[in-house]
Amino acid sequence: MTDRHFDAVIVGAGFAGMYMLHRLRTMGFSARVFEAGSGVGGTWYWNRYPGARCDVESMEYSYQFSDELEQEWKWSERYAAQPEILRYANHVAERFDLRRDIQFDTRVKAAVYDDPTGRWLIELADGAKVTAAYCIMATGCLSSTNTPNFKGLDAFKGPCYHTGRWPHEGVDFTGRRVGIIGTGSSAIQSIPIIAQKAKHLFVFQRTPNYAVPARNAPMDPEFERRFKANYAQLRAKAKQARTGNLYPISEKPALEASEEERRLEYQARWDKGGLGFIGSFADLLFDKAANDTATEFIRSKIREIVHDPEVAKTLSPHSVVGCKRLCIDTGYYETFNRPNVSLVDVSTSPIEKITENGLEANGKEYELDAIVFATGFDAMTGALFRIDIRGIGGQALKAKWSAGPRTYLGLATAGFPNLFTITGPGSPSVLSNMLPSIEQHVDWIADCMGHMRNRGLTRIEATVAAEDAWVAHVNQVAERTLFPSCNSWYLGANIPGKPRVFMPYLGFPTYVQKCNEVVRNGYEGFRLSEK
Ligand code: NAP
Repeated sequence: MTDRHFDAVIVGAGFAGMYMLHRLRTMGFSARVFEAGSGVGGTWYWNRYPGARCDVESMEYSYQFSDELEQEWKWSERYAAQPEILRYANHVAERFDLRRDIQFDTRVKAAVYDDPTGRWLIELADGAKVTAAYCIMATGCLSSTNTPNFKGLDAFKGPCYHTGRWPHEGVDFTGRRVGIIGTGSSAIQSIPIIAQKAKHLFVFQRTPNYAVPARNAPMDPEFERRFKANYAQLRAKAKQARTGNLYPISEKPALEASEEERRLEYQARWDKGGLGFIGSFADLLFDKAANDTATEFIRSKIREIVHDPEVAKTLSPHSVVGCKRLCIDTGYYETFNRPNVSLVDVSTSPIEKITENGLEANGKEYELDAIVFATGFDAMTGALFRIDIRGIGGQALKAKWSAGPRTYLGLATAGFPNLFTITGPGSPSVLSNMLPSIEQHVDWIADCMGHMRNRGLTRIEATVAAEDAWVAHVNQVAERTLFPSCNSWYLGANIPGKPRVFMPYLGFPTYVQKCNEVVRNGYEGFRLSEK
């Protein structure tokens, strides 16, 4: 193989791309990673906004493919902050000598399947071309940023920032009037930090969000020691849970508990902190009446924390908790007690325009020195659609998925042979702990490539029938839940014009079982051939 022709091209050097490269190299495949950023880390390379921190506990948000790596790395806090996770990604890159096969500052422009040769032709932004037998998209679920097309977007004379593309040198908001648009996870993490520096912070909220305290703390050495001594068992236990996380999910339905029992359970989970709140009762994501008991508890906390009853009311959501990803905060609601923070409700009259001096909302101009867009991402499909991906007969992926993504297992799509997506739509991905999900996908793909090589096979393609059945199943599972009840990015509802289709698959253990069964049944649902 020359440096223009590879067994596999991998797009993206986040956690998915890094491990994919490592696995394939270990198996003797030639692979090249192309990465738009100047370093590894993906999400954790780009999202450097103040307060950026993982909402999965650090002992669980890490690779498990190497015992040595697991044992040697030390996390300093219960929830790792972005700089520490990025240090971890760099450590992995060095430890496994990954950088020599990663080309940074290189965006992939197009990936086209060439029928006659059965190879993928990959075109880079600078016009260079390479070919590969397999094209593997490790492009991330939340990597294509969304900046709403506000009127006058270019008119503002001050700086604008997006949380998902934060300047590497950081931003000093000292003494500045700052406007932040959005109240999702990114905003909820950054608002308390920005408020400490800004002269005044205006928070433009369209939809209030539920946040429970993270209760972040320095890593307890005894907890770490016990965790490391039992890593394999704990990882195995996590894989039996719906989300692939270790927080307990109660088997008891909320509606079978007494009011007092519910209050005690919610309070205990609130005190413990973290995403585990949603596991308080078995039916929270399935039964609206059950969910109402949890939302009322959170609203009561907001009323307790926020001094001004009007502000507390505006901050209080009435949607289903967990329908949008639950936010984990450190001092979010408390921040609205500060005299230099104002909440601006833009739910009934949207932000009208960005002006030279700030922005207009509710018929009023807010004068600002800086604007922060915490407006999220074109999730799951956005990063794939930025690449011109074409399969058999030149069919564009974007056209094939125009009514919503169609995949088999979130790994492959019919008409696009030898194309794999790591944590693609139709897989647990964002409804699970991303790191174990990534490793499961990478292992499945690598094993599949090994299987094909051993049998002299060169082409694998999902069948339309298997794909149709899987898409129907993903929808059926979602319909049994409360997830379709709000305008979340899981449904693509945050992007104007995007089809409303629930994209991730709920249920890590059932999913893994299905993937393993497919392999046991000779890659059932895929067509494997020599050419
Ligand atoms: P997000 O959850 O999509 O939030 C975007 C926010 O911007 C929403 O409040 C949205 O309001 C608002 N918005 C969008 N367009 C608007 C417009 N035209 N006018 C006014 N407001 C507008 O994005 P995110 O906060 O970046 O989080 C995305 C996901 O990334 C999270 O759900 C999570 O999975 C992940 N994340 C995780 C962490 C963590 O690990 N702790 C941290 C950050 C992000 P509406 O709700 O009304 O649309």
